[in-house]
Amino acid sequence: MEQVVLVRYGEIMLKGLNRRSFVERLASNIRRAVSAVGLAHIEMAQGRIFIEPREKDYDLGEAVMKVKNVFGVVSASVAFKTGKSRSDIAMAAEAAARAYMAANRPLARSGLNVPVGPNVPVGPSISGEPLPPSGEYAFKVETKRADKTYDRVSPVISKEAGDDLLAALPGLVVDVNNPQFIVYIEVRERAAYAYTDRVAGFGGLPLGSNGKAILLLSGGIDSPVAGFMMAKRGVEIEAAHFHSYPYTSERSKDKAIMLSEALAGYFGAFHLNIVPFTDVQLAIRDNCAEEFSTIVMRRAMIHIAGILARRESAQALVTGESMGQVASQTMQSLAVTDCAVDMPIFRPLIGMDKNEVISAARSIGTYNISILPYEDCCTVFTPKHPKTKPRLDEALYQESRIEGLSGLLGAAAEGVERLRISPGGH
Ligand code: ATP
Ligand code: MG
Repeated sequence: MEQVVLVRYGEIMLKGLNRRSFVERLASNIRRAVSAVGLAHIEMAQGRIFIEPREKDYDLGEAVMKVKNVFGVVSASVAFKTGKSRSDIAMAAEAAARAYMAANRPLARSGLNVPVGPNVPVGPSISGEPLPPSGEYAFKVETKRADKTYDRVSPVISKEAGDDLLAALPGLVVDVNNPQFIVYIEVRERAAYAYTDRVAGFGGLPLGSNGKAILLLSGGIDSPVAGFMMAKRGVEIEAAHFHSYPYTSERSKDKAIMLSEALAGYFGAFHLNIVPFTDVQLAIRDNCAEEFSTIVMRRAMIHIAGILARRESAQALVTGESMGQVASQTMQSLAVTDCAVDMPIFRPLIGMDKNEVISAARSIGTYNISILPYEDCCTVFTPKHPKTKPRLDEALYQESRIEGLSGLLGAAAEGVERLRISPGGH
């Protein structure tokens, strides 16, 4: 029986006139995300997107794992696709139930089941061998009738499919209140589908539907999460990492690359700019009062990122700053930093506590890379007592003491190494 991946999307349904272009963008992002899995047709129909394999041995499970990371996707299922007659639906429901039972042991239910131990076989394969006698699977059927012209209503379809399943598979019992698994049936315009599992996605909006921004990506915990959050709202990302070789090692650059590769699992391929920052850092260290070096350096980074943004047609910058986290992230410091550029700086972590950021970093898989122990350029040049409430006129005065500062900033932007990053580094 034909299997497909059924993809659900949420919020973009609400976008009125833009809906069609949003859905098309989502479908094309999905197409790109699953292109490495194999040949497949991507179909948009009735508020769903379907991935329909066009070759034998297409790995639908792998396609689900890729598609769940595409922003805009709410959830995805491997589904059996079939005709809409009762017997077709019964066959698809049976195939879905068998696949579930092959992959999951029956759960012990009070009074009904023999307890399940480690040696109990996990059930028959989809090839249709008989079930082991050791336990029963409690199930129910839920039906969505998206084809409103279909002659039977949802409860009837569920009842019939439930009866057909009971007749076909001896290991099943119905329990509508506490089922171990649910067989979902969707009767749609062109076909019917049956599945048991939904894999959750991140929601959000399709990447590229909300402009483009430069993400200032350090080697730390915060900035990858910040980039993820903006990308989840549809913002295309290009990253910039400031590197102060030889004061920071090549490994800190490698770390920025590894973080980018992890993010590319969500963004798809994107660009990382390695900015040579040593000359700027040294000029700041040698010419500014030490307590102002942090704010002047922050402004220098932002200024250079602004140049890159204009060059790459990005409209905004993104950082991992959070209110009050360190001296450069006080209200005053952030305000003075903002004045270094004439475009918005988005700081999606602004109201988050560090432990909230850490749990987000864990869940997107960047945390273990971020905690690798390589210093970034900020720590090497960090003053002992940075000013926590700098004023703009003070920062400007310190900058005026650096001869040729704007030339140095321009040269750093000019000297970037622009790397194309692919998911997982492949
Ligand atoms: P993170 O955990 O992201 O490194 P942080 O708490 O260490 O953040 P800072 O070092 O003050 O904070 O940096 C604040 C933000 O500035 C970072 O989140 C990042 O967006 C940007 N940033 C800092 N250092 C660099 C760098 N070397 N390259 C690019 N961006 C940087
Ligand atoms: Mg940092």
